Order: sequence, then structure tokens, then C-alpha cells
Amino acid sequence: MAKVHVNSDKVKYTSEFIEAKYDYMTTGVEVDKDGRYIATPQTTHFTFKTEQKVPTLGVMLVGWGGNNGTTVTAATLANKCNLSWHTKEGLQQPNYYGSITHAATIALGNGPAGEVFVPMRDLLPMVHANDIVFDGWDISSMNIADAMKRATVLDYNLQEQLRPLMKDMKPRPSIYFPDFIAANQESRADNVLQGTKQELLNKIRQDIRDFRKSSGVDKVIILWTANTERFSEVREGLNDTAENLLNSIRKNECEVSPSTIFAVASIQEGVAYINGSPQNTFVPGCIELAEKKKVFIGGDDFKSGQTKLKSVLVDFLVGAGLKPTSIVSYNHLGNNDGMNLSAPKTFRSKEISKSNVVDDMVASNSILYAEGEKPDHCVVIKYVPYVGDSKRAMDEYTSEIMMGGRNTLVVHNTCEDSLLASPIILDLVILTELCQRIQYRVESEPTWHSFHPVLSILSFLTKAPLVPSGTPVVNALSRQRTCIENILRACVGLAPTNHMLLEYKME
Ligand code: NAD
Repeated sequence: MAKVHVNSDKVKYTSEFIEAKYDYMTTGVEVDKDGRYIATPQTTHFTFKTEQKVPTLGVMLVGWGGNNGTTVTAATLANKCNLSWHTKEGLQQPNYYGSITHAATIALGNGPAGEVFVPMRDLLPMVHANDIVFDGWDISSMNIADAMKRATVLDYNLQEQLRPLMKDMKPRPSIYFPDFIAANQESRADNVLQGTKQELLNKIRQDIRDFRKSSGVDKVIILWTANTERFSEVREGLNDTAENLLNSIRKNECEVSPSTIFAVASIQEGVAYINGSPQNTFVPGCIELAEKKKVFIGGDDFKSGQTKLKSVLVDFLVGAGLKPTSIVSYNHLGNNDGMNLSAPKTFRSKEISKSNVVDDMVASNSILYAEGEKPDHCVVIKYVPYVGDSKRAMDEYTSEIMMGGRNTLVVHNTCEDSLLASPIILDLVILTELCQRIQYRVESEPTWHSFHPVLSILSFLTKAPLVPSGTPVVNALSRQRTCIENILRACVGLAPTNHMLLEYKME
């Protein structure tokens, strides 16, 4: 049961559901013949219904033996078992810093002593990260304890304590088509399935069923945290419709990527699928399949470091009426992800996913930017083995300020990449699972609906948010976070956070 209980005649708590009536207020805009904007307030009366029972959740990671896969598994176990460990700074306790569900709060309202903040996870019943059961696939056969050691992310003293808990975790053999990732990955590919694409798809579906049965979990979600693939070609007849994509798999077409086969297997099993890497796994046929089967999909590419900051800084600059004109981002990193990205085709996927992150902010301000005008935006990634998982990101933002002035901001960010990505993995699966328990109906309609299968509420966590066709892509971090917060509030009948604090501004 959630810790927050809303005291309102519009909210009903039963043992099964939380049901909340909610007035969603929006503004319709038209431009009249004199060029005036005619803004019309509109209200939609929704009822939200959230299932109270939190299921046991199993998460299958594609790329389980990688830096992110092993780190998120290890961190969850360390938290669950409350393991502490010695570093040169002293005794370290486990935590979930970096997770909005587990380490961030929201302003609930006002108490006698002022504003009251509560953990986000207290608003609605959510899976606790400690309770997630992990499984997964990797083209490398190394057990997850050794793979954690190979990742060189966590302190040795913690690794030693975790080893007994992780040494028997073995990744399932995976789908490996060398053409889709960098050639430098070949040496670790010793755990590879053989067969036609249809046989591989069937095998992955079988794995999902096996895991569900052997672990006894109520629900499974699949998340891709394997190497970045090159983009797949999108072509009429190949993958443009669900039917064509399924046919292409049957015909063993070479252009169907491993990640798309995983996504199709997942959707066919009714299991939500999230893409943590930049490649276009969700070709149009795959999206259509998810829509037809009403299975959630989300992506693309974890928004962990440099891009997250960019989606704050550019929002701040444009929102303050300053005009960013040049954004240059250099990265160097030395982990296996960096090695894979050193190949031009896989780097291109990352470059694309990093490149559009300022578009919505730029397009929002026609005072600063003419139609179609954009800042220069350049992204460079280099592989430097010595720095390992400790990624360096250097950014230069140049903006035009008042009366022809120039402002240059330079940011240097050093951080363990996988320790930023792991909490994001947890939030992605926890929020996806929660969304599977939320239904809504519009007042006049009898039917309950789920959110659209393309789960754009996850945008806060992804660099290149996947949204339903024809709907707005929001990259600005504060807008993305407010969206999550206010949807959760709506589910318990609370007004959206508006930061007006009018009660403190009156005479
Ligand atoms: P990693 O190279 O350490 O791990 C990837 C794992 O995937 C490896 O163990 C590899 O053997 C495995 N693999 C490759 N192809 C596979 C396949 N077809 N099936 C199963 N396993 C396969 O990389 P990482 O640092 O864990 O990052 C994982 C992904 O997350 C990368 O694509 C990266 O770009 C993306 N990402 C990471 C971050 C971050 O901050 N760490 C941010 C955004 C995106």
C-alpha cells in the first residue's frame, strides 16, 4: 500500500484499486484573421484507476554481462542485503542515488511547518528495486560475478561480498549478427545461438517463458543494455509494417537486427520491451506490432550524463531568453561501450540519438530562432582505454546575449558511466510496470483504456524519446520530470504541481 493517502471525495481506495476523478485542464489555441492567438481553456474529466497489488517483477537484460547489466544487478543485491564496504574514504553504505523513484522527492503539499516533500515512490504502490529478480542474455558466457570484475566499476571489497551471490548467475546464449556491432566485439562472442531468424525468435520467446516459470515472478520486462548496434535500414516491404517485419524474419532477411528480434519476441509474449541504446530497434513494423498487441515499448538510449545536462542547460538558456548558437560535446571513455562506439557505424547511432536533444527547446522560441534555424551542434566520442568506465564529457555552449554580447559556458563532467545508467534502468522498469497497472476513462465513455503502447512518460530517462507518431517530443528535463510527477499525482486525484505558492504571496 502506498504511504500517501489522499483525503478527498474524488478519490476512492479499495483493496484492489485506487480510483481518482481528475479534471485535466488544457488550453486550445487558434490564430484568428488578425493574427491574434485565441486561447480557450478546456477541461477533460478523467477517472484513473490504479491496481494496488504490486507484482513480483523479473527483469531480463539483453547484455546482462556488460557494465550496466552487472552493475545494476550488483547494486540491487547490495541494497537488498544491506552490504556495506570499505573504500579509501571510509565505510560506504548501498543506496539508489540517481533513481527518481527511489532517491527523489516531490512536493506533496503544505503542512503546519511549511512544504511537505515525500519520496516519489510513496505516491502510488510501486515495485521496490530490492525485489527485482534479474536474468538475461549475453553473447559473452562469463558468469555475472566475473563479468562484474571485468567491468571494473564497483569497489573490490564490495565485489568480494557479492561474488557468492552472483557467481551462479549465467547469461543465456544470445543472438549475434557481427555486422550489427563493432568488429572489436567478436572476441567476447562465445555464447551465441545458432539458427534462422525465426528459430532465434522462437528461442528467445521460449527463454522468456522459461524464466517466468522457473523464477515464479508475476511479471517480466525486457530491457536492452547490450552494445549499440548500427542503424537498420528501413525499407518498404522489409520492416515498414508488422506483417512485413514478421515475414522478413520468416524469410531470414539479413537486415533484421538482433535487437529487433528481441523486441518482436518480447511483444509476442506480451512483455514490455525497453531499448537503452540508440539504435532504431523500433522500426515502423515493430511499433505497429506493439500497437496491435497493446504491449508497452519505450526508448531510446538512457539519458544519463552529458545529454541530461544538455537538456537542462539549453532549457535554462532558451527559457531565460538567451540564444545558444554553438554546442560542442566531446566525450572520451574506456569501457567496452566506448570500444564498440569507436566503429563509425555504431558511433553514428549514438551521434543521431544525441543530436536532436535541443530541438524542442529551440523550436519553442521564435523570438530567438527563425523558422528552421538551429544552433551548430557537434558530438565527438573517442575511445581511451585507460579511463575505463570513468567517462569524461566536455561541453562548450556559446550563446548570444544582449546587444551582440557572447557568453561561453564550459563544462567538464567526470563520472562512472554505469553508476549513472543503473538507477535509470531501475526507474525505466519500475515506471513501466506501474503504467501497466494504470487505466483511465474519459467521463462520458464506459471503456477503460491503458496508456498508448509507445510509453512516452519514460522520456525523462531517455536521450531520444520514443513517442506515439505525430505527438510532441519533449527533451527538456524539467518538463519531462514534471510530466511523470503530475501523472502520478493525477492517479491519486491531486492537482498538478504548479510552483505558484500563492498562499505565501498574498497580503
Ligand atoms: P558493455 O559493452 O559493458 O555491455 C554490453 C554487453 O552487451 C556486453 O557484455 C556484450 O557482450 C553484450 N552484447 C552485445 N551484443 C549482444 C547481443 N546481441 N545479445 C546479448 N548481449 C550482447 O556496455 P555498457 O556500458 O553496459 O552499455 C550498454 C549499452 O547502454 C550501450 O549500448 C551503451 O551505449 C548504452 N548506454 C549506456 C549509458 C551509460 O551511461 N552507461 C548511457 C546511455 C546508453
